[in-house]
Amino acid sequence: MTIVPLDRTQTANGASGPRPVLEANGLTKHFPVRAQLAWPPAAAGRGPHRAVVHAVEDVTLALPRAGITAVVGESGSGKSTLARLLAQLITPTAGRVLLDGAAAPGRRRYARQVQLVLQDPFSSLNPVHKVRYHLARPLRVHGLARGSNLDGQITELLGRVALSPAFADKYPHELSGGQRQRVAIARALAMRPRVLLADEPVSMLDVSIRLGVLNLLAGLRDREGLAILYVTHDIASARYLADVIAVMYAGQVIESGPAAQVTDAPAHPYTQLLLSAAPDPDRAQAPSLRGRGAPPNLIRPPAGCRFHPRCPLAMAICTQETPAAIQVAPGHSSACWLHATGLSAAQSRPLAGRRPLIEQQPNQTGGEEKR
Ligand code: SF4
Repeated sequence: MTIVPLDRTQTANGASGPRPVLEANGLTKHFPVRAQLAWPPAAAGRGPHRAVVHAVEDVTLALPRAGITAVVGESGSGKSTLARLLAQLITPTAGRVLLDGAAAPGRRRYARQVQLVLQDPFSSLNPVHKVRYHLARPLRVHGLARGSNLDGQITELLGRVALSPAFADKYPHELSGGQRQRVAIARALAMRPRVLLADEPVSMLDVSIRLGVLNLLAGLRDREGLAILYVTHDIASARYLADVIAVMYAGQVIESGPAAQVTDAPAHPYTQLLLSAAPDPDRAQAPSLRGRGAPPNLIRPPAGCRFHPRCPLAMAICTQETPAAIQVAPGHSSACWLHATGLSAAQSRPLAGRRPLIEQQPNQTGGEEKR
């Protein structure tokens, strides 16, 4: 299944523009399964029939300059694997990564252009070294250190992430979580990359300091024109930060489009489920979710639509055929049979026992619950 968040000649706001900086074309990643991890063990198979985890399946997306694309999904949806594929830390089973429309260059040159920021800033910084070391090392390794002006380069990097020069002489344990993540971002910026892949950059931070890091990423987009991939399970923060949202489920992109449109008018039942679970200050009472279930086993993913075992709106065809991406609005696509026309009565027959996705509950004023 392929969904492209934006036309390849469009920028994040939908206007025509230059080709995206980074593109993924049909990226797929299957991890072989060891026999002791497969159940039953015989399911691991042998030789060419060995079982695999279908972690990422045929994902196509484009990261434009000065744009933030959010990849949203629950744990195990494949979003972090996608970030690692884009960082070229792991090799795809199929598909290609294009930088400026051409095959990605060698690892060292690629790393100068595309940098990954990890979720846990404490484990990504060496505790025995000061911040100065962490920022100087990539400059030296990539031949960017300018002799006696190295201190000036470090001060400039700290300034880009809104930290004072005094932080250069601190150890990671002397920093707060937010400050550590800013140092990790500064280290990624040392090579002046054009693409930043941020894998859950705020999920380990206190709620009170998440906003500062999100605003820092927005500033890097606006001031420096970075193309940013923001990986998160929090669709509310994706709406706040991103220009485009791609929703992943069980290794596939199932909906994508402009962030406001995906969150204001979600077209896919799974996106509706994610949004119903997101905090909403206007909602007087939490909705009652039905058909929530658990993510599928990716060694043997469900046939047809992978969401069908959990989908309260599933129809007969959903268990048999994989839905293609269907455009529901300009730049907004959803891979769901509900948007298809011309289904036969047999194909559109609801599965037995399926009920509405969200049970509407009367609020205290007697009206309907707001979704
Ligand atoms: Fe998938 Fe069918 Fe539900 Fe759409 S209606 S999300 S195709 S199971």
